[in-house]
Amino acid sequence: MTPHHPTLLEPHTSPSLHTAPHVIVRGEGVRVWDSEGRSYLDGTSGMLCTNLGYSQPRLVQAAARQMAKLPFFASYAHRTNDVTLALADDLARLSPIPMGRTFFANSGSEATDSAIKLAWYYHGCLGRRRRTKILSQERGYHGTTVAAGSATGLDHVHKGFGLPLPSFLKVACPDPNGPQAEGLTEEQFVERLVSGLEQLIEAEGASTIAAFIAEPILGAGGVVIPPPSYYPRVQEVLARHDILFVVDEVVTAFGRTGAMFATTEFGLSPDLITLAKGLSSAYAPISAVMVGRRVADTIAKGSATIGAFGHGFTYSGHPLASAVAREALAVLVDEDLPGHVRDTAPLLLKGLERLRGDAVSDVRGYGFLAAVTFAPDAVGRPADGWAPAVMARAADNGLLVRASGDSIVFAPPLVSTAAEIQLMLDLFEKSYRSVLMETRFAPR
Ligand code: PLP
Repeated sequence: MTPHHPTLLEPHTSPSLHTAPHVIVRGEGVRVWDSEGRSYLDGTSGMLCTNLGYSQPRLVQAAARQMAKLPFFASYAHRTNDVTLALADDLARLSPIPMGRTFFANSGSEATDSAIKLAWYYHGCLGRRRRTKILSQERGYHGTTVAAGSATGLDHVHKGFGLPLPSFLKVACPDPNGPQAEGLTEEQFVERLVSGLEQLIEAEGASTIAAFIAEPILGAGGVVIPPPSYYPRVQEVLARHDILFVVDEVVTAFGRTGAMFATTEFGLSPDLITLAKGLSSAYAPISAVMVGRRVADTIAKGSATIGAFGHGFTYSGHPLASAVAREALAVLVDEDLPGHVRDTAPLLLKGLERLRGDAVSDVRGYGFLAAVTFAPDAVGRPADGWAPAVMARAADNGLLVRASGDSIVFAPPLVSTAAEIQLMLDLFEKSYRSVLMETRFAPR
């Protein structure tokens, strides 16, 4: 057995593992290479984030120019840098909601924590100090810092840390394929979800709830696409109770769904939007919270009474990351990548649909975000489960995809051509069918 690497504590990995990690050393276009020289098509854009592929020259040059001009200057106590101001202006122009301001951080988790603190601060400005509880969904993913991890609805993020904190409460996952939806029409399912939310608000008291945070499509929870009428109904309930609506667009923003923002695609009107990943195509760590006008105006007024917004990071509005993000946004617009995703997504979904049957119980997708789910009880189930076995076989065949529960998630870089998507589909089908053949027909 190859020894594990003794100096790195690996994120989202068991420290008890004694095998060496898989090491990627180079990327170009939609391909990466590992330390053994093997090449892979990247079917999940790194962590659903390298949306422009790996060697976008405009991003590389933007980083080099900014590094030479001003590698760092903090945004702190009313001093900032020009490129961060310009990025805030860019986002205000693109914003899908009436904009107030944008707050910058470094990761999706920090964006979630910042949105939660903004919600607390907003209610504080209005004298509602009891409004501290945060609602979110089972299987929603918002990060792993203490507040974001508490808002996340996945056990593996809670286990071992005593999370969630007590003021973080969950509503049911809006999964049309989940057990809660069984035997119900779409309308009845939405009714059940909405009345569950109303009951929770009534039981806790609206005057104790600050915000509800949710992803338009739940990514890490296994690509859950809620019924179209779900969020409009949720929004109506939240507005009635003056609970802020935070839309987590860390995965969905910047073209992933075929629109610049899923907020527009699904007709949502959030108070706050969190962004990360595709904002810089992951070439530099940066995240943001778009603060809608109502919240921005309230905190501008209220801070005169309750004091300055005492939140921020050394690297909030880092000029290098801001310069890269500005260029990434320009590339998205210049190349109309949302349009390319809209045009090419049917190929991805149709190709996956061909696999339905045998061990594949469901296929779903929206834009360049799709998933295949395996029936856990399908004949021939590999010992570790279908998804890990197919994911490992796909890697052997030169395709990187991610397993999430019983599903395999696809999120190809937005720049993937139709031919590259077809190649990913072919490699995936070959991998799945070879696992199927082996497990079904191997002597037991
Ligand atoms: N929100 C969503 C929807 C995510 O998918 C993620 C990460 O995958 C996060 C937040 C957290 O982002 P980060 O890992 O940058 O902290």
